[in-house]
Amino acid sequence: MARVFVITGPSGVGKGTLIRGLMERLPQLELSVSATTRSARAGEQDGVDYHFLAPAEFQRRVQAGDFVEHADYAGRSYGTLRSELDDRMHAGIPVVLEIEVQGARQVRCTVPDAVQVFIAPPSLEVLRERLIGRDTDHPEEVERRLQVATQELTAQPEFEHVVVNDSLPEALERLTDIVALHLRSD
Ligand code: ADP
Ligand code: 5GP
Repeated sequence: MARVFVITGPSGVGKGTLIRGLMERLPQLELSVSATTRSARAGEQDGVDYHFLAPAEFQRRVQAGDFVEHADYAGRSYGTLRSELDDRMHAGIPVVLEIEVQGARQVRCTVPDAVQVFIAPPSLEVLRERLIGRDTDHPEEVERRLQVATQELTAQPEFEHVVVNDSLPEALERLTDIVALHLRSD
C-alpha cells in the first residue's frame, strides 16, 4: 500500500502553491481531485481542479459511501472520493490530498497511516492579505474564510507536522523534506 499525504490548513495559506512545487520536485506523487458543490472559478476545469457536483448528486454519493471523507466548508460540501485513492494505493502510487481540517480529522480514522501536514500562516493578517491578493473570492467570502481560519488554527497541535508558510522557498523545502523522508522509509 502506498502512502497518503494530507496537506491541510486554512484557505489562502498557500496549500495549492506549495503542492504544485512539491509535485515538481517529487513527480511520483499524484493529486487526488476532490468533489465539491461550489461553482467553478474562472479557469477551473471539471475533473481537473475538482469534480463539480450538484448538491443532490453530492448527497447521493455520500449515501452510497463513495467518500473517504467529506465536510461542509463555508456553506459548500467538499469531499475525497474513494475512487481517487483506491487504485493508486493498490498500485503503490503515493497520493496527495489537499483538504480542510475536518476532512483531515476523518482521514486520521479512515487512513490511519496517512502523513498529515498542517500549513500555517505567519499571522491572520498575512492570511487576509493572501486571500485578498489571490482575488478569487468576494470580500464577504474572504471574511467567511477568515472566520473559519480562526477555528482551524486552533487545530495545529493535533498535527504531527506543522509548516509555517512565511518564506515560500523555505516552506517548500520543509514540506518536500517531510514527504521525501516518508517516501524513502516505505
Ligand atoms: P490555498 O491553496 O491554501 O487556498 P493558495 O496556494 O491559493 O492557497 O495561495 C493563496 C495566495 O497566496 C496565492 O495568491 C499565492 O500566490 C500566495 N502565496 C502562497 N504562498 C505564499 C508565500 N509564502 N508568500 C507570499 N504569498 C504566497
Ligand atoms: P476552495 O473553495 O478554496 O477550493 O476550497 C475551500 C477549502 O476546502 C480549502 O481549505 C480546501 O483545502 C478544502 N477542500 C478541498 N477539497 C476538499 C476535500 O476533498 N475535502 C475536504 N474536507 N476539504 C477540501
